[in-house]
Amino acid sequence: MSTALQAQTHLHRVELPSKDYKDDTTSFWCAGCGHYGVLTGLLRALSEVGIDPNYLVSISGIGCSGRLPYFVRSYKMHTLHGRAGPVATGVQLARPDLNVVITGGDGDGFSIGGGHMPHLARKNINMTYILMDNHVYGLTKGQCSPTSRKEMKTPTTPYGGVEAPLDPVLYMLTYGATYVAQAFAGNVKLASQLIKDGMEHKGFAFINLLSQCPSFNEMDTAKHFKNATAILDDSHDVSDLDAAMHAVNMARREGREPNGLLYKTERPTLDQNMAELVKNVGGHKDYDLRKIIDLARP
Ligand code: SF4
Ligand code: MG
Repeated sequence: MSTALQAQTHLHRVELPSKDYKDDTTSFWCAGCGHYGVLTGLLRALSEVGIDPNYLVSISGIGCSGRLPYFVRSYKMHTLHGRAGPVATGVQLARPDLNVVITGGDGDGFSIGGGHMPHLARKNINMTYILMDNHVYGLTKGQCSPTSRKEMKTPTTPYGGVEAPLDPVLYMLTYGATYVAQAFAGNVKLASQLIKDGMEHKGFAFINLLSQCPSFNEMDTAKHFKNATAILDDSHDVSDLDAAMHAVNMARREGREPNGLLYKTERPTLDQNMAELVKNVGGHKDYDLRKIIDLARP
């Protein structure tokens, strides 16, 4: 492994219980919302990794998911709809020593922000992206989203949909994410484990958390997600991309959702590649975004 890959500069550790990662702001989602499970899983993962809140940046777009950073003790940015990815990219490149976490919904990430998703993955930007996937637009009261089931009736599809849903994990596997996992948000133990591993992964970690919206999605309930769970067993080879895609396709054929770590690999991150560029082209020893900007000036 190269020296660049070994440099885990993104982890500043402290010892704190998960409750100490909770911001004083009271969390406010509807009763029974799956996003509470996402929040609990994230707080536990932060505690288990021991991330220093002073080096944590929590970033979201718009949607019920967009509230999550308010509830986490961290620096936080509630950005424009679909734009958490570009904002987080800027933060990560300017300060590679920070831990950057995006929390966003299915509409925010894959509809309005869909143009950004392949580039976060292919560039292997060192961050953790938690998709809070409830297969519906919750904040705007129940329109169909890119991950809604075709047959779901919503205010925008009163007779059912006419479009096949997008598959976030297959999408991310295809575009080169170096860590791809999925879990039901109600399985907080598994969700927190996958988030923890994703945070410790150097590269773009994508975790799809299936999260029920009891207010606006009557089909994909907590019971449905729980019953559809297909836990990946120990025989699954997480280093095999074909095996990951096969596992998703096989589960889908049975109407189930694969839960667990699907795929993990290592390759240099964008900030590492830029550091190499600065060293080789500019003769600078250390990565510094300002030096790169200076180099680019005519
Ligand atoms: Fe959760 Fe749905 Fe309520 Fe939004 S509308 S807070 S996603 S239950
Ligand atoms: Mg949604």
